[in-house]
Amino acid sequence: MRATEALERRLRATLETREQAGLRRVMRAPAGVDLSSNDYLGLASHPLIKQRMAAAVCEEGCGSTGSRLLRGERECFSNVERRFARFKETERSLYFSSGYLANLAVLGTIPEAGDVIFSDERNHASLIDGARLSKARRAIFPHNDVAELARLLREETGGQKFVVTESLFGMDGDFAPLKEYAALCRETGAALIVDEAHAVGIYGERGSGWIEACGAGDDVFVSINTAGKALGAAGAFAAGPEWAIETLVQRARPFVFSTAPPPALAAALEASLDLIYAEPERRQRLLARACCLREKLGVEGRSQIIPIVLGSNERAMAAAAELQCRGFDVRAIRPPSVPDGTSRLRISVHADLTEEVLDQFAAAVTAVCSCAASS
Ligand code: PMP
Repeated sequence: MRATEALERRLRATLETREQAGLRRVMRAPAGVDLSSNDYLGLASHPLIKQRMAAAVCEEGCGSTGSRLLRGERECFSNVERRFARFKETERSLYFSSGYLANLAVLGTIPEAGDVIFSDERNHASLIDGARLSKARRAIFPHNDVAELARLLREETGGQKFVVTESLFGMDGDFAPLKEYAALCRETGAALIVDEAHAVGIYGERGSGWIEACGAGDDVFVSINTAGKALGAAGAFAAGPEWAIETLVQRARPFVFSTAPPPALAAALEASLDLIYAEPERRQRLLARACCLREKLGVEGRSQIIPIVLGSNERAMAAAAELQCRGFDVRAIRPPSVPDGTSRLRISVHADLTEEVLDQFAAAVTAVCSCAASS
């Protein structure tokens, strides 16, 4: 018997169970009109960003060759971090190689044993995993439920409290009530941690995110801002007060023990920030397109992420497959990304979609989803 025979049986059985439950994932390359990526502003293929990144590769090379604390440090990282901190109006920011790692770093490092992390039940897996890494106790509150969070916070006595939320929820397309959370945090001495993955680059006058749009900047302790979505590149910035960011530099394991990202990404992000500053019409166009598609589909709300909840995995998969056949790249989202029984199409709008395409797409969704709903 091979040493791994029993292990193979076990893993194959798990794969089969997932398949039976309609939960098998496949990797499918982009095809058709993009209605699923997080490249909300279309910056991932913007000529200025490509050109600056290519020039930086020629100058700096590909790999960073080591951790930031060893030979991986470059001036371009600290420059873009300073610039990003100004963008968020915080003292300092730190660039990580992904949003997932930034969330593990913030939640795995700052809350300690005896503290309590209050986490929205719909928070992204990386926030959940970060909280699991921490020795702090976890308390899950119902999605966007200010009254329940208030009750839990007021009841809690010991340790430092942290409230953790996405600002724009990536699978639901709704916003966290940050102003209300800010008031609660002031009242109860809690530190507010906000994941701006889907909002940075889009909301607020400067485009720095939902925190800016709500005027909640003074009450947010740390924000995490992925750079692989609206900013069109990769990585993520944690932004906050000097002493919190310095704590991450010294102690966050995903920062200390990981090779620094390719330096050319810093050049790409400088270009993204230039474009976000110089072309506010890009984000205005995105929000106008989102509004327009929501109207056509009869879905309330105002963000660029539009969920169409179909219920079962099979229905969501069938609807996505049919839309893909019609030339629209829409993906089905299933558990554990969303709660059981709420599998859905997650439509993400992009600034460069034309009104004509939105019309055709809305007609296709209406046809496909009414079939899916009645099948
Ligand atoms: N936070 C949220 C809310 C996300 O949606 C994601 C990615 N989908 C992440 C963090 C992780 O970011 P990254 O893809 O850069 O690892």
